[in-house]
Amino acid sequence: MKAMVIRRISRVGENPTPLEPAELPEPVPGIREVLIRVSACGVCHTELDEIEGRTPPPRLPVVPGHQAVGRVEKNGEGADRFRIGDRVGVAWIFSACGRCSYCLEGNENLCPDFRATGRDAYGGYAEYMKVAEEFAHPIPDIFTDAEAAPLLCAGAVGYRSLMLTGLKDGDSLGLTGFGASGHLVIKMARHLFPDTRVYVFARSEEERRFARELGAVWAGTAEETPPEKLNAVIDTTPAWKPVVEAMNNLKPAGRLVINAIRKEETDKDYLLRIDYPTHLWMEKEIKSVANVTRRDVESFLKLAAAIPIRPEIQEYPLTEANRALVELKERKIRGAKVLRI
Ligand SMILES: [Zn+2]
Ligand SMILES: [Zn+2]
Repeated sequence: MKAMVIRRISRVGENPTPLEPAELPEPVPGIREVLIRVSACGVCHTELDEIEGRTPPPRLPVVPGHQAVGRVEKNGEGADRFRIGDRVGVAWIFSACGRCSYCLEGNENLCPDFRATGRDAYGGYAEYMKVAEEFAHPIPDIFTDAEAAPLLCAGAVGYRSLMLTGLKDGDSLGLTGFGASGHLVIKMARHLFPDTRVYVFARSEEERRFARELGAVWAGTAEETPPEKLNAVIDTTPAWKPVVEAMNNLKPAGRLVINAIRKEETDKDYLLRIDYPTHLWMEKEIKSVANVTRRDVESFLKLAAAIPIRPEIQEYPLTEANRALVELKERKIRGAKVLRI
């Protein structure tokens, strides 16, 4: 089968072809696993984190991609959850142990044996992939394959982030960064919290215009001061400056939720500007979002179908995965990037 693989850690800025095409054997589904013929796979900032070594795959080469949509092609021994031809998706959670205290209390995202799709196991930048049937998600009919793909990561993690803010309807919410996750979060927030005012902080005028189109009451740059203090902020940027600025914009007891698997080091000095009374005093909180649970993915897919959320997408053939990654690195973003396979 055809696949695009990460063979070595490199800087995407210096290496415009971080993935290499490869011809790999078709995976054989094991006990209670399904083989999926992949038709679409979302491109995520986390792929850049893997390639550049911020969250390196434990073994190389690896097929990246954790927003895969396709059809069940074959059931492994004992697998009976899906019929051949059923449409399923695979998200960032590839597996968790199911026995530890985190798994047992429903926080399988925190499992010490958490395995991520496309990092710890082969993912969706390929014609086929396999996964345990319990970790494949049925896709609601209203979405096309390409629309469903970005929902599996940006959407599910965005949903988890929004839940972690502890927001109540009528509270004010800030979003720093307005990429794939941000534009899904604003749609969820407007549906779940109709009286909440959403403020968007984004670098480009295009992103700010897009945010206003989607219902933000205000859109500015990270340095600008919004007209009111915020109950919660969700940060989806790879940088540190928005973290510091967001803490300044929070109300007392406000919470910043950082939705980023890793931050980049480029502007880390900005953290030295943290001034305790301005940025932290008055019980302000910072919380990170780690991974997703299957429940996050399933709750979000249901919500997305009900609203409905149709992500704006930009499609690329699998062979042009490198171009999609370079454009993501250069922040040429309007909506979510999806590979057609
Ligand atoms: Zn992702
Ligand atoms: Zn566990």
